[in-house]
Amino acid sequence: MQIDIITLFPQMFEGFFQYSILKRAQTKGLLSVNIINLREYSLNKYGSVDDYAFGGGAGMVIQVEPLANCIEGLQQKTNYDEIIYTAPDGQMLNQPLANSLSLKENLLILCGHYKGIDERIREHFVTMEVSIGDYVLSGGELAAAVISDSVVRLIPGVLSDEQSALSDSFQDGLVAPAVYSRPADFRGWKVPDVLLCGDPKKIEAWQYENALERTKQRRPELLKNLDY
Ligand code: SAH
Repeated sequence: MQIDIITLFPQMFEGFFQYSILKRAQTKGLLSVNIINLREYSLNKYGSVDDYAFGGGAGMVIQVEPLANCIEGLQQKTNYDEIIYTAPDGQMLNQPLANSLSLKENLLILCGHYKGIDERIREHFVTMEVSIGDYVLSGGELAAAVISDSVVRLIPGVLSDEQSALSDSFQDGLVAPAVYSRPADFRGWKVPDVLLCGDPKKIEAWQYENALERTKQRRPELLKNLDY
């Protein structure tokens, strides 16, 4: 998969893609990432790409022309499956959306800033708008990072044990069951006996029950669409 990200703050991604699963995905040749600095498409010598909003009001708007030039330049080299704008009023990121994006080859993610981007970019280039939650961030960089992380870990071969993605929360409509590691007894706080019994069937049944119970307690709305 190739993920290209257009941003005013490329340094914000330094480090993020250089560790853990996102790093491993690149080392394994399953992911390539290009961070594109929108300021390089500035129409002036100051590198600015924002201007006042028509109609007035507080806050600057990322201009249509530099962003259009930037996207069209990238499209010369890459045929994008989706051009995603990170937007608080977009479709909410969830596991089914991450699953479907993990099947794509080429993604372009636009990070907004200030008051946002000129609406004409959303109308004429953007194919999908994604929000990471009902709150407003200062910029789309964190959202782009969250989208990338949730998607890349689902690409087959990225996680060493593919089961571990399949058994995560939301994959089967439930939150994940409780997990424990050694020691089996810490200060008298014991791991459930069944997890030590060595019978995979019993363990699986306990994990399912535990996941179901936790979902009822924590996220009952998830059970509405589930056959169980
Ligand atoms: N004026 C806009 C908010 C702009 S915030 C509004 O009220 O809707 C600046 C940028 O941060 C946005 O352009 C978007 O790219 C990003 N952003 C902010 N909150 C976000 C969220 N919840 N999910 C995804 N991106 C977000």
